[in-house]
Amino acid sequence: MGTLSLRARLATTIAGAAGTMSRLSGRGDGSVIGGAIGLRVEPDLVRLLAAGRQIVLVTGTNGKTTTTRLITAAIESLGREVASNAFGANMEAGLVSALGRDRAAPFGVLEVDERYLAAMTEATSPRVVTLLNLSRDQMDRAAEIWMVARRWREVLAAAPDSRVVANADDPLVAWAAGAARRVTWVAAGQRWHEDSWCCPECGSHLRRDDLGWRCGDCGLARPAATWVLDDGKVVDAAGRVRQLSLALPGRANRANAVMALAVADYFGADIDQALPRLREVASVAGRYTQLELRGRRLRLLLAKNPAGWLEAFDVLAPAPAPVLLAVNANGPDGKDTSWLWDVDYRVLRGRPVIVGGERRLDLAVRLEADQVSFELTDSIEAAVDQVPPGILDVIANYTAFQQIRVALGRAE
Ligand SMILES: [Zn+2]
Repeated sequence: MGTLSLRARLATTIAGAAGTMSRLSGRGDGSVIGGAIGLRVEPDLVRLLAAGRQIVLVTGTNGKTTTTRLITAAIESLGREVASNAFGANMEAGLVSALGRDRAAPFGVLEVDERYLAAMTEATSPRVVTLLNLSRDQMDRAAEIWMVARRWREVLAAAPDSRVVANADDPLVAWAAGAARRVTWVAAGQRWHEDSWCCPECGSHLRRDDLGWRCGDCGLARPAATWVLDDGKVVDAAGRVRQLSLALPGRANRANAVMALAVADYFGADIDQALPRLREVASVAGRYTQLELRGRRLRLLLAKNPAGWLEAFDVLAPAPAPVLLAVNANGPDGKDTSWLWDVDYRVLRGRPVIVGGERRLDLAVRLEADQVSFELTDSIEAAVDQVPPGILDVIANYTAFQQIRVALGRAE
């Protein structure tokens, strides 16, 4: 912010120019390539660009991009400008690009990949670290989540000036955040339990009941929360209850909103002013976009892992509205589709199910096993013709989602 060294200024300028050229040549939004080139000139660029600003980091397996957007909206209700990597470029280069683009913004709200949280916490000295949840992303990363939680725990113990806003209902998150000096606990819920049957502290079996979770051996237990998601309502730290009434669908997004309000509250935001800003957020980086095609109303839902699919099933239009499921197994999706077997598809019985994507046969086998009837499709265009006029919900994993957006002419 005005005090960067000549080399850092040069690196930022080059990063911005490369990003602009990349955008002009049609290769994405340019944020990663620009940041990567800037980092080659000045490897310490994240630290230099973050210095002197109020930084909020947001991480977790699911909901990072949406929560980043919601926190940004809530902080903007203070009338302050926010630099943010709004399109999910969440490794170092993406952070450089976001901070470099808005050099004057006093706030930086930054989504961070789970595996980069430690390095980015050290680099940015964040005022707030937001921990949403932690579960398996792809099968080929299955063993990593315990190591990720351990790294979070270590770095948060070494960052006494950062406040952690954490989901108390996720045992791995709670264990990691428990090492921090100052924590705001949020009862944001946890639908997906498959990755947290064991105590992160001692390895014993965790018990769950209406009050949360507890280890019978070492006594690790769900911390008492000061912010609570209660159905469609948020209860704040003072016990005041407000309706959330978001434009974004589903329980997972209500949880993201409560996390966002807890973060904004820390910065002194008035919740009654912040909440209407959250309600204005209707789609995030193309997710939850609704569009019309030949008399069908398509709703695009991104779900990248078992926990994400469970959340997506939550927001489907009521049966008999049809759903298209699309699965790929390219780089960002993970090469292994065996995670498909971790999802319970029986909730889809009784509605038309269409299966697409490059790995549609893998999913078809899985649906057979759950006795869910389905039809195969070659493309989003064909799928639209396979259903009657009305709603068509589309759930896709990462590259399948991008392909559908391109096919529909909706890629950014
Ligand atoms: Zn234990």
